[in-house]
Amino acid sequence: MTAERTLSIIKPDATRRHLTGAINALLEKAGLRIIAQKRLRLSRQQAEDFYAVHKDRPFYQDLVAFMTSGPVVVQVLEAADAVALNRRIMGATNPAEADEGTIRKTFAESIEANSVHGSDSPENAGQEIAFFFSDDEIDG
Ligand code: ATP
Ligand code: MG
Repeated sequence: MTAERTLSIIKPDATRRHLTGAINALLEKAGLRIIAQKRLRLSRQQAEDFYAVHKDRPFYQDLVAFMTSGPVVVQVLEAADAVALNRRIMGATNPAEADEGTIRKTFAESIEANSVHGSDSPENAGQEIAFFFSDDEIDG
């Protein structure tokens, strides 16, 4: 099977608590290769654009404020079936509903401050990777 890529974001609640290494360890243990990674602070415009799909949801403004409240780590992960594998390792959006051993069950603070983002389809993964990375920044 050919390798697939997905976009991951370690969110501000996790960088604030110095969990980047612990989360990366879980990703790598699951077989996801971190083939690109950078730490940055999202501008308001970037956060609004990235989560534009949610712009009519009641939590949108809070989500944008949260995502710009501290640094994030954006990363490209690669594996066979990387999108679904990463979503499985992340756990449910609401940590109270996430399976034991998942990143969100282990680390998330709330349904909003839930430590990680992961693309939800291969199509969105391609768009989200291009949102943050140029081809020459990705070490396949
Ligand atoms: P992500 O897209 O960040 O990987 P997800 O796909 O599990 O998360 P989405 O429905 O796409 O969940 O929601 C995007 C993000 O918006 C969530 O990860 C969370 O940070 C926030 N969010 C979702 N639902 C709520 C809610 N009911 N209240 C507050 N924040 C929410
Ligand atoms: Mg989502």
